[in-house]
Amino acid sequence: MNQPINKPIVIEDQQKKESSPEQRPPNKKFYRKNGNQRRFHQRDSSRNQSNQLNLVNRTVSVVVPLYNEEDSLVELSVALKKVLDNLRCSWEVIFVDDGSTDTSFQKLQEINRVNSRFKALKFKRNYGKSSALQEGFKAAKGDYVITMDADLQDDPEGIPALITKLKEGYDLVSGWKKVRHDPFIKKHTSKLFNGVTSMMVGLKLHDYNCGLKAYKKDVVKNIKVYGEMHRYIPALAHLSGYKVTEIPVTHHERKYGKTKYGLSRFFNGLFDLITVLFTTKYIKRPLHLFGFIGVLSFLSGFGILLYLTILKFFESTPISGRPLFFVGILLAIVGVQFFSIGLIGEMITKTSVENDNVIIDKTLG
Ligand code: UDP
Ligand code: MG
Repeated sequence: MNQPINKPIVIEDQQKKESSPEQRPPNKKFYRKNGNQRRFHQRDSSRNQSNQLNLVNRTVSVVVPLYNEEDSLVELSVALKKVLDNLRCSWEVIFVDDGSTDTSFQKLQEINRVNSRFKALKFKRNYGKSSALQEGFKAAKGDYVITMDADLQDDPEGIPALITKLKEGYDLVSGWKKVRHDPFIKKHTSKLFNGVTSMMVGLKLHDYNCGLKAYKKDVVKNIKVYGEMHRYIPALAHLSGYKVTEIPVTHHERKYGKTKYGLSRFFNGLFDLITVLFTTKYIKRPLHLFGFIGVLSFLSGFGILLYLTILKFFESTPISGRPLFFVGILLAIVGVQFFSIGLIGEMITKTSVENDNVIIDKTLG
């Protein structure tokens, strides 16, 4: 199970220039090269949506975590600028370089030189996407915060629709890659994960782990993402009381480089789900979880042993040597152990001074 990272993240370089509004002409080629009828149509509809959005006096921050994505960055920033300019509000893009070893940060420096609304942080080493998002959230100044991957798989054209949904009253709007361009195995295991997570968390989403999401400021300032918890941000938000929904977004195949996650993602994902459920639901009342499992196990064991004892007295069947006897003993012992773990957990919780992660929604007076 992942533990919170205690070591502070060292940010090597931070671009702070706010001047030089000169901007590079948009790279029209990018659209023409990839463009098909559908895409142009989508761009028009997203522009209409941008026009209808009233974002006067609002700021939109886009947080982009990246690790060795040198080939995508210029193309991505051109596409982002186009969409964000159409929103007619103030905006910033915060690239969080998660310790890239290629020329990604040089690319970011060039982009920042051309347009200072593109800001960047660089980690001293690779901390993982969750830490990158967390630092991006800390730095974000916007009323609305968008996250997206840097590998051009997420389409910036989806941003206006996400913000529209936020304005309808949701706190977090997650993208749903309805048509996915990922390998077969990833598509299907991810379906399983989304199903299990939806059931355990009590929030039905088709796609928990879409890079493209939109948040109200309050959510990103209150939620702590660490380890590989980024997969469960909608779960964390929902369990903290925020209104969460999803809308379909366009997804593309990875154009450059390769995915940063291998098989390990499946195991880590499962452990992180347990962590999310435990830390949000049971951290302050461990006995409710461990005690429940313990009592259930002990009672089943006790029942089995009672049954065997009755058989012994009434039918003179010998107890020992029967597999059921060992199952009974095992369940009873495991039950007591679970119960004790719950009690110890309660003792630790009671002595810790930290209060619950209470998020205050409104105050009067
Ligand atoms: N990423 C990151 N740190 C990491 C691994 C990935 O910041 O340690 C970024 C990566 O550069 C990309 C995003 O997280 O922008 C999603 O990663 P990837 O595309 O490899 O995941 P996939 O699309 O295969 O789920
Ligand atoms: Mg990707």
